[in-house]
Amino acid sequence: MSSFFYRNLKRTYPTVASASGVFLYDTTGKRYLDGCSGAVVCNLGHGVKEINQAINQQLENVAYAHTSQFVSQSALDLAERLVSVAPSHWRRGARIYFTSGGSESVETAIKMARAYFVEHGEPDRRICLSRWHSYHGSTLGALSLTGHPARRKPYLPLLGTPTHINTDYRYRCKCGYGPGPCPSQQCARHRADELEEAILLHGPESVMAFIAEPIVGAALGAAVPGDSYWARVREICTKHGVLLIADEVMTGLGRTGTVFAMNHWDIEPDIITLGKGLSAGYMPLGAVLAAGNVVSAFERKSGAFEHGFTYSGHPVACAAGKACLEYMDRHGLIARVAERESELFRHARELMLKYDFIGDVRGRGFLLGFELVSNRDTKEPFDPHLGVSQLIAREAFKEGLLVYPGSGFIDGVQGDHVMLAPPFTITDAEMDELFSLLDRTLASVVENLKVPQ
Ligand code: PLP
Repeated sequence: MSSFFYRNLKRTYPTVASASGVFLYDTTGKRYLDGCSGAVVCNLGHGVKEINQAINQQLENVAYAHTSQFVSQSALDLAERLVSVAPSHWRRGARIYFTSGGSESVETAIKMARAYFVEHGEPDRRICLSRWHSYHGSTLGALSLTGHPARRKPYLPLLGTPTHINTDYRYRCKCGYGPGPCPSQQCARHRADELEEAILLHGPESVMAFIAEPIVGAALGAAVPGDSYWARVREICTKHGVLLIADEVMTGLGRTGTVFAMNHWDIEPDIITLGKGLSAGYMPLGAVLAAGNVVSAFERKSGAFEHGFTYSGHPVACAAGKACLEYMDRHGLIARVAERESELFRHARELMLKYDFIGDVRGRGFLLGFELVSNRDTKEPFDPHLGVSQLIAREAFKEGLLVYPGSGFIDGVQGDHVMLAPPFTITDAEMDELFSLLDRTLASVVENLKVPQ
């Protein structure tokens, strides 16, 4: 019996002993290929010496100083570096607010948007719109904006009034297109138009922001919107003076083959949230990138953002973040993801040819989702009692492969997906191994667990 509060107290978890590259090892010596970078975190693989050294060096110098008293060189350096890769119109006057992870980044972004309008002299703007089929974090503010019914359900009495619109979910487009994903740009534009309808419904004078993931991660398994979607959303936000917050906690810093996923559509949000890949698991770290237009409202008025965490701008976490960005740059890893995207997707489509229950393969860069269905022609989801995505993750784990499962996203009960998001450093041979382990996993799920092929 352990005193550790496990994620699920009815399950047992192996104790991790060590990790190197794309592999983790438990205390029994079993090896696991990290096919999803933990929770899409360990983008640079495990045990990178340069990053460990940068962390150790910072620990030797100074581990902690409170941001009400000091700033650290590592935080200053990391902020400069992030601004230098930010969207071009931003670079002038942009600033970075550091947090300890994705949920804190989202909370910070919401409060920053609100504080911006208070400073700006529009104190009635208080509503943050978001989307169904989204995940923004587990703290109450972030969960209020999250559009994943199953994750919200136990906490509904604690959450704010829902102000969600639909997501451009191509595979299950409202037009009923099938059996594949809807290719219509008009449908994508209609989904974006729902934002304007919601703004007009609430009254533009009361809407402060719209938050969304450029490519939906955990809540929809790497769902990419139609190409016309984001340009229309940007246009609507600008027209009504609503801040556009891109939640790039999962997609940011190379995961989709560009620095930010919004770069795929040349969209410049007003605020970007980061976490996960920023420090690639080496330290808990998140960040909020505020464009110059947002920052200047604070600079012109009080200068103070009434907010703060004890561990904001933690010197060691920022040293880890800085070392991660340097490592990515030095090894050209974002370009590598863009180049190798086709290989990852080729392997995935081969599996789709073999297994009929893969209804859709989607994503961008090294963020790939399989949506699993009981009938590919009708897109009928699996009976949720089968728990198909969890079954696959468990079988994969037995085989020594880590994948990222998701369920209940269609309506709170139905819907199964499995995501792959390997470290950017995965070699060709390791990629082959990943797919051969996944193939074995799917074959055993079909055979032993009576999932129709
Ligand atoms: N936002 C997005 C898009 C995420 O994918 C996540 C985590 O999966 C979060 C926010 C929350 O991040 P964290 O779990 O680090 O608090």
